[in-house]
Amino acid sequence: MTVRVRIAPSPTGNLHIGTARTAVFNWLYARSQGGTFILRIEDTDLERSKPEFTDNIMAGLKWLGLTWDEGPFFQTERSALYGEKIQSLLDQGLAYRAYDTPEELDAMRESQKARKQAPRYDNRHRNLTPEQIAAYEGEGRTAVIRFKIDDDREISWEDLVRGKVTWKGSDLGGDMVIARAATEGNLGAPLYNFVVVVDDIDMGITQVIRGEDHIGNTPKQILLYEALQATVPTFGHTPLILNAQGAKLSKRDGVTSVGDFEAMGYLPEALANYMTLLGWSPTEELGELFSLENAAKEFSFDRVTKAGGKFDWDKLNWVNGQYIHKMPVAELTTLLMPYWEKAGFEVQKVDRAWLEQLVAVIGPSLANSLRWVR
Ligand code: GLU
Repeated sequence: MTVRVRIAPSPTGNLHIGTARTAVFNWLYARSQGGTFILRIEDTDLERSKPEFTDNIMAGLKWLGLTWDEGPFFQTERSALYGEKIQSLLDQGLAYRAYDTPEELDAMRESQKARKQAPRYDNRHRNLTPEQIAAYEGEGRTAVIRFKIDDDREISWEDLVRGKVTWKGSDLGGDMVIARAATEGNLGAPLYNFVVVVDDIDMGITQVIRGEDHIGNTPKQILLYEALQATVPTFGHTPLILNAQGAKLSKRDGVTSVGDFEAMGYLPEALANYMTLLGWSPTEELGELFSLENAAKEFSFDRVTKAGGKFDWDKLNWVNGQYIHKMPVAELTTLLMPYWEKAGFEVQKVDRAWLEQLVAVIGPSLANSLRWVR
């Protein structure tokens, strides 16, 4: 079977280093298998999604050399398909409209808390009578669509990174919301866990490789694959990038977007190399410094580490320094031009040959980043 993998970023912010690293693993796997790498923009969150973030994500992936073979596909252009699939679940009795108000849901959770139970939806609207439905509709309540989750089910998969993972249906929080704000003739706005499955089926995704923070979504998604009568893909949950304190790298750690690293003077090849090292152990022959193309020749999931990778500035600086020092003078000069310009030097007016001589002299003392000129 031909490998088809995807990166599915939500355009609610600039390209995050964690998303870029997930893209690296997908890209490496696709290239190692002669497969296809797909870009899908998950823009169903209309309030938070912005076209400038989509532009930033695509520019960042290209800058890193993570070219895609198909896409970009946009979820906002695919609502007809989602509607059709929601309807099919409703028709089969696998999903239903639930009319609980936010206040009722809050009260339900409070009473669960008081009884020291984990919060979950207690499936109270699973079997409403036609009269009850008519009454709620009459009150003008908006419904959500919930997908039935069998508490007695056990869901297992063989994860490419973590081995066998098993979840109990009873730990999934009760019947799950797959679409919000559904009115009588309208199926509402479908949510992440549902659209991701519909899309992965439609796009023929064979391996879903994504960050470990999605591991709790996978059992729910497996149940949706079954309900939609589709083959369940293989899943691989890659470790997260952590800060020095061992927490998920976030905005509070300063730089998190790929563009920040570019602005700081890191080279795309060096960043891609470093990100690969942060979660994958290269073979001895490959060594620590490699192009993505060369890493792809050796890539396999048994060398992906299970533990989160701590972001190490010293290591990144070292890798970047190695690339800078290996670079031909002419190329380095061209790369330095925008940094000089930003720093206020009118280098366009300076003789190019002289600039190259300058770079030949100062190049070896460039420590680890191009940003010294700022
Ligand atoms: N849009 C999701 C995210 O950015 C995609 C997760 C997935 O790969 O399924 O986290």
